[in-house]
Amino acid sequence: MRLNSSIEEHFRLAPTQKAALKKLGVTTVGDLLYHFPVRYGDTSEMRTIASLVGGELAVVFGKISGLKMSKGFRTKIAMAEGWVEDDTGKIKAVWFNQPYLAKMTAEGALVRIEGKVSERKKNSELYFSNPKIEMVNKLPIGVGDSLFGADGDPSSRAKLTTGQERHTLYPVYPESRGITSNWLYHAVGKIFSAKGGSASSGKVESFLDTVKDPIPPDILEKYNLPGIKTALVWIHAPQKVADAAAARKRFAFEEVFLIQLEKQRAKKDWQKNPSFIIDHAEEHIKKFTSRFSFPLTSTQEHAIAAILADFKKNFAMSRLLEGDVGSGKTAVAAATAYAAVTTKPRNQNFGNLQIAYMCPTEILAKQHFDSFIQYFSHLPINIGLITSSGCRKFPSKIAPNGWTNISRNQLLKWVANGEIPILIGTHALIQKSVKFKNLAYVIIDEQHRFGTAQRQKLVRKDHIAPHLLSMTATPIPRTLALTIYGDLDLTLLDEMPPGRKPIITAVVKPEERNATYEKIRKELQDGRQAFVICPRIEEPDPDKEFALQVKSAKTEAKRLKEKVFPEFEIAVMHSKLKDSEKEKVMEQFKDGEIHILVSTSVVEVGVNVPNATVIVVESAERFGLAQLHQLRGRVIRSTYQAYCYVFAETKTAKTLDRLKALQTAKNGFELAEYDLKFRGAGELSGGKQWGISDMAMEALQNLKMVEAARLEAARLIALDETLSRHPLLAEHVKNRSAEIHFE
Ligand code: ADP
Ligand code: MG
Repeated sequence: MRLNSSIEEHFRLAPTQKAALKKLGVTTVGDLLYHFPVRYGDTSEMRTIASLVGGELAVVFGKISGLKMSKGFRTKIAMAEGWVEDDTGKIKAVWFNQPYLAKMTAEGALVRIEGKVSERKKNSELYFSNPKIEMVNKLPIGVGDSLFGADGDPSSRAKLTTGQERHTLYPVYPESRGITSNWLYHAVGKIFSAKGGSASSGKVESFLDTVKDPIPPDILEKYNLPGIKTALVWIHAPQKVADAAAARKRFAFEEVFLIQLEKQRAKKDWQKNPSFIIDHAEEHIKKFTSRFSFPLTSTQEHAIAAILADFKKNFAMSRLLEGDVGSGKTAVAAATAYAAVTTKPRNQNFGNLQIAYMCPTEILAKQHFDSFIQYFSHLPINIGLITSSGCRKFPSKIAPNGWTNISRNQLLKWVANGEIPILIGTHALIQKSVKFKNLAYVIIDEQHRFGTAQRQKLVRKDHIAPHLLSMTATPIPRTLALTIYGDLDLTLLDEMPPGRKPIITAVVKPEERNATYEKIRKELQDGRQAFVICPRIEEPDPDKEFALQVKSAKTEAKRLKEKVFPEFEIAVMHSKLKDSEKEKVMEQFKDGEIHILVSTSVVEVGVNVPNATVIVVESAERFGLAQLHQLRGRVIRSTYQAYCYVFAETKTAKTLDRLKALQTAKNGFELAEYDLKFRGAGELSGGKQWGISDMAMEALQNLKMVEAARLEAARLIALDETLSRHPLLAEHVKNRSAEIHFE
């Protein structure tokens, strides 16, 4: 057995199991070992069926029978039901909207049931409603040796390591159809007891002994982390909770460390690219910024200074500017762009350097085109706009204060010969057909949509690379920023321009809903506009009774029009609309033809409709605080007082308290940290999009650990850039980046 040998070589698999493993990304023995439990059950927490009482959450083990599918008598909801039986009694289990469970579960199977014990009012009969169900091979001791005979022999359970101890902890793996937790548990057990080593040496060792540790021993020792063999055993078959925790910490460290190695290496690579030296006297930039209609905040000045300092170096900058919505990132972009476009190319005393400003959407590209015109209108500097639906140029020959539509070909020609030094656009901007004469500076709004691979495309054939500034308003905690943006230098814009009226945020209880609608009506009557944000596009199930209590944009729009605001124009916006439809709705909203825009949370970040001063968020408990904060950023762009009404479906004090943090937190970063601390990393708009496992995301709560991983990675790369002295690490890093870049 080897780490990279295929699972199929060692296990006989049914086609459904093969498919399920593939879906889990498990194809080799190594994958299986690195497929970690999400949690551990404790058989000592298990209850006997006879002891259950209504209203509690409980775990029971037993045999399932009487499985059938049915439809609710009144509700017509498809359900599955069955009976679970142990030595002490029998209880019914009912699953709504999951009729397939009856088909997927084998009659007579041994199962673990976990969930809420409900009580029927009519006859106080107890039943499990929508419990979690897992098939198990063997029952824990005490559940029914007599009922199930010898098959219930407890000693055959949980003998993964030494064959001596009986674990009360058992691993629960990520759920997947076709593969049970138990199958995984036993498969891992089989790997643990397999022989390994080379036949030639004549020495037979256990397979686990042959697994090499990617983390160098001195690092393990320094941070007191268990070695690979111990950690694998502890994570799959812990005897103590503390062992499992130590193993998880180690693997989280490993993952963050590998990410850091990759980032540090990318950073070194990028810095090898020579770039354009942009070196101006401070006075030159001051003259430009002093024309702004506002004085710069000190953080803006600081950010501009950091970028100008990078410009003077001989290699390409890669910097992240992270600042809340409205913190004034565009002014920083404009001031530094000015420095670039008033610089001559190397060894040349004519022409100018060029900048590209890339936006995630067409709407935003147009918005930035307009703001750049304002910043540069007093100067003889051409500005171009390129999107898939057309191109523009400022100034227009006929109307020097405005822009004009021009053909794509004409625009490309002027960009190629350097006559247009500032080009703003969507992704169309870095397509092959767009050739710059001297592209010196690239600004990217909303960084996470721009990966390392795309960045590499900006490097010219002569290896000269432009300076790179990524800007993001996504509030993420410092640890996450250090990890995913490990290859960028970080500048925070954590101060808001003065004089803004702070947004009034209210957490609205269900009984205050109508009064709140009246307040909103007043705003609308005064000519303002409102956003209503819903978590879903469509109702999950037309039958309201059991449908999740989550509002959908479509039905909410209908309800608002019919029951609440019949006198106003209401439109819907969501991700499934065509781009042209989105654009149309957005234009109408901007022009004030639509008064209320009911939308899912995916609408363009940063959309600027200064007249919209109210935002309502439905089912707000479904959102992370940082996300709610970003949503409300849409209505703080005007001089009118802005309002954010957060509607919660639940009344639990904990949920309401959490939402109240929106009223007290100073900025988005604070809320992101709060999310991380109190709700766990899962709440941070999904680790998946950053290519980080849930386990590592959890570990991001530990700043010390992240800093340690970063420090060690930087140290290793500084000594050994290609990791030639750490071939195993090099291989892991390579595999990791390959995985991520294929997504
Ligand atoms: P974001 O960081 O979200 O991109 P913008 O750059 O769009 O923010 O700025 C938001 C608004 O704040 C703009 O209308 C801009 O003119 C204004 N603004 C930027 N900097 C300042 C400042 N220092 N003082 C006052 N207003 C500012
Ligand atoms: Mg912006």
